[in-house]
Amino acid sequence: MNAAPGTLVRGRHVLTSASPEVLADGAVRIVGERIADVGPYAELAARYPADRVSGGPRDIVTPGFVNTHGHFSEALIAGMGEEYALGDWIRELIAPVAPHLGPEAAYVGTLLAGVQLLRTGVTLTGDMFVCDPAADGPPVTPGVVRALDELGLRGVVAFGAGDRRPGVTVAGVLREHEALRRAAGASRLSRFRVGITVLAAQSPELFARTVRLAVDGGHGVHVHLHEVRDEVRAARAEHGVSPVEYCARHGLFEAPTLAAHCVWSDERDIALLAGHGVAVAHNPVANMVLASGVCPVGDLRRAGVEVGLGVDGAASNDRQDMLEVIKSAVLLQRVHRLSTAALSARDALRMATLGGARALGLGDELGSLEPGKSADLVVFDGDSPALANVHDPFQSVVYCAGPREVRDVWVAGRRSVAGGGVTGVPVPEVVERSRELAADLVRRAGLDRLRHPAVAPAVPAAPEPVGGAA
Ligand SMILES: [Zn+2]
Repeated sequence: MNAAPGTLVRGRHVLTSASPEVLADGAVRIVGERIADVGPYAELAARYPADRVSGGPRDIVTPGFVNTHGHFSEALIAGMGEEYALGDWIRELIAPVAPHLGPEAAYVGTLLAGVQLLRTGVTLTGDMFVCDPAADGPPVTPGVVRALDELGLRGVVAFGAGDRRPGVTVAGVLREHEALRRAAGASRLSRFRVGITVLAAQSPELFARTVRLAVDGGHGVHVHLHEVRDEVRAARAEHGVSPVEYCARHGLFEAPTLAAHCVWSDERDIALLAGHGVAVAHNPVANMVLASGVCPVGDLRRAGVEVGLGVDGAASNDRQDMLEVIKSAVLLQRVHRLSTAALSARDALRMATLGGARALGLGDELGSLEPGKSADLVVFDGDSPALANVHDPFQSVVYCAGPREVRDVWVAGRRSVAGGGVTGVPVPEVVERSRELAADLVRRAGLDRLRHPAVAPAVPAAPEPVGGAA
């Protein structure tokens, strides 16, 4: 009577993000790409004797983590520019790099950051690739989709568009959106959203075209909103309303929208976000790095806004570590509110799984361990010293675990991380390829000046002609 054999992923603690929230000595049964059953290990093992068993009686199993917000466009410029807050950071770091990001940088950068995300349990990443598409060159962003497919990492991918840049046209922006849409449409694991960097980066014409593209095309939107106080002040000065209110008035929120940050949101903004079903990507580490402020996570959630967690790009985090983000989300709210009740490990784990999936419009397919959902899950090594003694599995995962404890990561029924190692791509080769690209990018973008003086130039200068040229 049993169908095709499957795999039982066993754990001492199975945290489901569903009901019941925890199974003691439980298992998740995977058949093909989906979860076929969830329950006590002994029952499932008896019911499906032909299944192979993965995981073990001391491990912890969770749903795959959803990184709601990041930028693979920053993968090659991690660890520099700490002196800048957002406005200067964009001007000095992001804008100079944008014209020099080509398809190869998109592909290799995504591999480099994607490997790090996978190793911290991320199975779905919401990305916004920020670059200046060349008027006559090949599209850049399909390289992101290609890399995600090779990694075995799900993506909700967007091109972070702005046309208030030299050489960037509305037509060029729309062409890049379309190229990414097609690439995602042909992918097993990626889906497309329409990206907007920030309102101030778009001409009124591009913003209007973007709204139509999203609403008429049935696409979701990924946008930065209210990341810093200056952004809100500038919009009030220019438009008389906050960026959130501007988007609501101009129809953007008719499309399912994910807004990154929403740090500087007042009661009216929060009511508008909730009323339009806009979800928020909260990026605690990036907000601290850029000294942006503290997101009102509690107020947003109480108003009914779905809040997911995000790593953000490698130029503002800079470590692509979802476990660090989950822990930081709890700590930042606690120290800001001076209350241990501000956010719990259980809250944060829910936000990192089902919350993120819902924020990206995929809550019916992913984010919890339930029959019928995609088999996206993480197995934490219960024999690791950090997890040797588990008294509360939620606190163990959020406060104790790091990348070292992530042993297996399943995406759509396949292991993209096995035994701690990424299965889809040769990591040493990715690292090696990234070095030349990063050095070239830094040199062409003129970022050498930001490097520490003790660090050798990115690309060695051409050798002096032997014997002198004079
Ligand atoms: Zn961002």
